[in-house]
Amino acid sequence: MRHQIRFTLEKISRRLIEIEGLVYQQHQPIPPFLFRELDQPGLPLDEQADFEANWEEIPPGSYWALPRRNFILVTNFTIPTAWNKTGLNALYLPIGIAGDFSHPEALVYLDGIQYASCDRHHQEVILPDEFCDGQEHSLTLIGWTGIGGSTVGDMQNRLKMGSCEVVQLHPETRALLATARVAAGIAKHLSHQDPAYFHLLTALDEALRLVDLRMPIGNDFYKSILEAHEQLNYNIKQAGQALDVDLTAIGHAHIDVAWLWTLGQTRQKSRRSFTNVLRLMDSYPSFTFTQSQPQLYDYLIEDDPEMFQEIKDRVEEGRWEPIGGMWVEADCNISSGESLVRQFLLGREFFQDHFGQEADSPVLWLPDVFGYAWNLPQLIKEAGLEYFFTIKIGWSQYNRLPFDSFWWQGLDGTKVLTHFSTTKNPDSVHASTYNSDASPGQIIGTWLNFQNKDDAPPGKTLPLLMSYGWGDGGGGPTREMVENILEMENFPAAPRVKPGKVIDFYRQLEAVSERLPVWNGELYLEFHRGTYTTQARNKRANRKMEFALHDAEFLAATASLFDPGYQYPYDALDKAWKLVCLNQFHDILPGSSIAPVYTESLSQYEEVEQIASRISKAALESLSAHFGPHLLVNPSSFERDEPVIVAGELSESGDLLPYSITPLMELNDDADPGELVCKKDLLENDYLRVELNSAGDITSIFDKIAQREILPEDTLSNQWIAFEDRPLNWDAWDIDIFYDDKKWLAEPASSIKIIEKGPLRATLEIKRQILSSSYTQRISLDHNSARLDFDTEIDWQERKILLKAAFPVDVLSPTATYEIQWGNVERPTHHNTSWDWARFETAAQKWVDLSEGQYGVSLINDCKYGHDIHGNTIRLTLLRGTTAPDPGADLGKHTFKYSLYPHQGSWDENTVKQAYLVNNPLLVWEGNTKAGNKTESFSLVSVDQPNLIIETVKKAQDGNGLIIRLYESQRSRGSFTLQTGFPVKKAFQTNILEDNQDSLNVEGNQITGTYKPYQIITLRVIPK
Ligand SMILES: [Zn+2]
Repeated sequence: MRHQIRFTLEKISRRLIEIEGLVYQQHQPIPPFLFRELDQPGLPLDEQADFEANWEEIPPGSYWALPRRNFILVTNFTIPTAWNKTGLNALYLPIGIAGDFSHPEALVYLDGIQYASCDRHHQEVILPDEFCDGQEHSLTLIGWTGIGGSTVGDMQNRLKMGSCEVVQLHPETRALLATARVAAGIAKHLSHQDPAYFHLLTALDEALRLVDLRMPIGNDFYKSILEAHEQLNYNIKQAGQALDVDLTAIGHAHIDVAWLWTLGQTRQKSRRSFTNVLRLMDSYPSFTFTQSQPQLYDYLIEDDPEMFQEIKDRVEEGRWEPIGGMWVEADCNISSGESLVRQFLLGREFFQDHFGQEADSPVLWLPDVFGYAWNLPQLIKEAGLEYFFTIKIGWSQYNRLPFDSFWWQGLDGTKVLTHFSTTKNPDSVHASTYNSDASPGQIIGTWLNFQNKDDAPPGKTLPLLMSYGWGDGGGGPTREMVENILEMENFPAAPRVKPGKVIDFYRQLEAVSERLPVWNGELYLEFHRGTYTTQARNKRANRKMEFALHDAEFLAATASLFDPGYQYPYDALDKAWKLVCLNQFHDILPGSSIAPVYTESLSQYEEVEQIASRISKAALESLSAHFGPHLLVNPSSFERDEPVIVAGELSESGDLLPYSITPLMELNDDADPGELVCKKDLLENDYLRVELNSAGDITSIFDKIAQREILPEDTLSNQWIAFEDRPLNWDAWDIDIFYDDKKWLAEPASSIKIIEKGPLRATLEIKRQILSSSYTQRISLDHNSARLDFDTEIDWQERKILLKAAFPVDVLSPTATYEIQWGNVERPTHHNTSWDWARFETAAQKWVDLSEGQYGVSLINDCKYGHDIHGNTIRLTLLRGTTAPDPGADLGKHTFKYSLYPHQGSWDENTVKQAYLVNNPLLVWEGNTKAGNKTESFSLVSVDQPNLIIETVKKAQDGNGLIIRLYESQRSRGSFTLQTGFPVKKAFQTNILEDNQDSLNVEGNQITGTYKPYQIITLRVIPK
């Protein structure tokens, strides 16, 4: 009771604030800064300093720059000669506070040499001895003011300049403060039943009484500090044992590659964060830090090679841990399977090239990504990684995953040791954070919040991991954080904290992992469901470029087989894939960034398109020399025969082999086009009879083969519905469950026209309006297909409206199937439990399907991801109209395509095939070369099992043979025979990093092997 009655904890907290103010023994103001705005971030210092005019003086206490400004501040400083010659001197630079994140932030140059960084959370720069010479030295800050608040920011929020000074520190006072801060922080978080609570308060009380605070403060105070600290250390040793829990603390700076800032700003953010970390490493030899995203290191090589070399030295020492596996921390809902492979391939290659074979830790580090596809465990292992880390699933709205340390089982059965760090911000609704402040409360909380305490073997405790440091906008750890960690190595009643590496933690966890539970399924984030749809042009560009590069690689690989003079465009493909991967960053592709990010992103996609198109043209020109001037290319794994436009006319393609090049003279025009009807109220072929009313609504789809109506009674198909889309928070990110409160339907058609009436295709063009947006749909039926296509153009003018296309179908099933990266996942069509209703909007790749025993309907898209299938209605989310952080997101013209594909039985390879056909059209080459004139079609590769899809054909990264990547798509196992269009010398199975594993049986043009459910099979095929 005594400590409560006498307010011991409150008294100590007060004393610590008083003592904190005395750490600086000497102060001297520096002359006011001169300030200029800069046009762009990160010009070299000599270019910045060239400006003569327009400097503005910023006295302390005055308000200076507005948000989102690049700036330069210049002044000078002198360490007074009267100060203690052996003292520790520093610059204290409180240049302002700009709301969230570490803004404002700047690189600090001393006499023109880049030395440190300063920001809102790092205001002290320790000066090297050579600056303490009584001479005047120049001080330059080049930085960015920040966004002026949290996500959106206040554009009028000027920074207030504080009193910048040179100071002399009393390190012993700071050391006492660190110990006392930690002791008080731990006591505050202990139960009043815990003896350590009393011991620690008594320890603090007795020790701090020794501090001599008599005025005027002088030598007596500084002398008393030593005694007080000694007493405090002694008392703490008597206060009890540490908890039998090991916690690895790793410094980190989460840097969003683009978000509320552009790539250009991020390049500088990296330099600022990394400088800060390097300076902390100078002061604290045991301090460790982990940094993901090779893209950031790659920028650094260009922008600041000297700093990159410093980092390499720290990596070599084992204190700086490259981590992550991927090129950037990529979105895992939207990025395709092959894109994820490239994230790993480029990421791991970069780390190996620059840091050495084993320098990067084998951890997929994705703390902040909005959901994790069920095939990631397989990809993680295929990429040579072993572990997975995130905290983001703890942001879910309804359910907390019951495990924090567990085995995550993937679609194919692969299990990956996974950890969700449990460090929690005290006032946050979320389960945990990757931006811990390393306070005693958060460190104790990491243990309290951990759900797997009883999953350790007898007598053992599962280890914990804490990632600390300012993040999102970078910044990284602070001195106080590092001090806390060092204090808590063996502190009474607290976990034993050790600065270490992430890999150290995982190795410890693995050693005691035998009782850990298994989570078998995707890691769905019950949050940010709008990110499957927002910034639709960006998502479309991503999908189109994924296929454009696929085609380019297939054509280039084929050309390299036929033409010894053809140079496979490694560098161009590397550049294009890096741009695609960069734009899959978890705030670009999901649509959660500011407008300038999307302007830059779309121009990068244009660059990718040009590269892909150049590569494809060059390869086709080369192939023309062998096959003749006019070619038809099937760049897919499937035999196909859809009509194709040649010389401006829709023509029969004939039966095309997988991955084939066919001289156009081979086209078979004799095929029977069958019955095709096109009227304003009817589209009909041998498979479907589609009826429309005068409003342009589809009132009936009759499957002529199955002899059944697809629409439930009194429903319309392809009905567009606009919903009020006003989430609680996080506008671009979130669709909230109440979005269906209010809705509006499209107006009846203003015109219905027959565009094509056979013999190969029937097309109606329908113009309509929904709210303020007009749109045109071309609804088509080919003569030889049961697929109904909807090509759409819309001028989208809505704000805070979400648009869906609805397809009610007469099919009964409690689950629907959604394609994910190289596989699929079943999700409920009901809302029985919180886990079900939480998934009211989910992501799919190219198709979704609702099937019952004998029948089903698939919905295919060419660039959309958001879906919901509730009851018997399949809905595709087409567009949103979000206003933050980009007020004009998605306004204007959009084009997209989706297709309805009814089928007998459940979904199978036919749905998969149709999805590829929609996304990966036939290519027509009408060149003018004179050479070559083959008459036969050439198929580069095909496989005899319909459930195996050949996804990728490319040349190996090392130039040795072709890489052919397949995946099993239907949860089956067996043997396969791969047929190649060339004699094969050798074939190896490899991982996705293209490391050879087993060799396969080869005979002539055939390779045989076996496969398991959902296996990704990468082959290196070496031609004879
Ligand atoms: Zn992030």
